[in-house]
Amino acid sequence: MDAATTLKKHDLKVTKIRLAILDALGKTELAKPYAELQAMLAEFDRTTLYRTLLALMEKGVIHKALEENGESYYALCSDCSIETHVHDHMHFKCTTCGVVQCLDLPKRLKFSAPGIHIDSIEVFAKGQCSNCN
Ligand SMILES: [Zn+2]
Ligand SMILES: [Zn+2]
Ligand SMILES: [Zn+2]
Repeated sequence: MDAATTLKKHDLKVTKIRLAILDALGKTELAKPYAELQAMLAEFDRTTLYRTLLALMEKGVIHKALEENGESYYALCSDCSIETHVHDHMHFKCTTCGVVQCLDLPKRLKFSAPGIHIDSIEVFAKGQCSNCN
């Protein structure tokens, strides 16, 4: 699906900055730190960029993959909708090169505890990516 179709599907008007963000995040499962997005999208106003990221998150187009040391990493969603984010995947950070990526899990995670209702589970792993090990 191209970026414009993705936006329309999520009830968002196609604007230059939205297309540019989707473009910057690319089609890979790699997440990008905010600082890098800001550098790639320097032509846009910072406040507009930040607000647009929030709107895209709200509508299930992108998600925050990781927040660490004050840096947020964003990645494209694959099956999220306007109503809800469904993430059956894990976030991985390479401790050598710092790359952050979304990784599919073979099975949907399930966990139960008495009296607790769980809506979502987040899994975060660290190690060496395929380029570094
Ligand atoms: Zn999502
Ligand atoms: Zn690495
Ligand atoms: Zn992810």
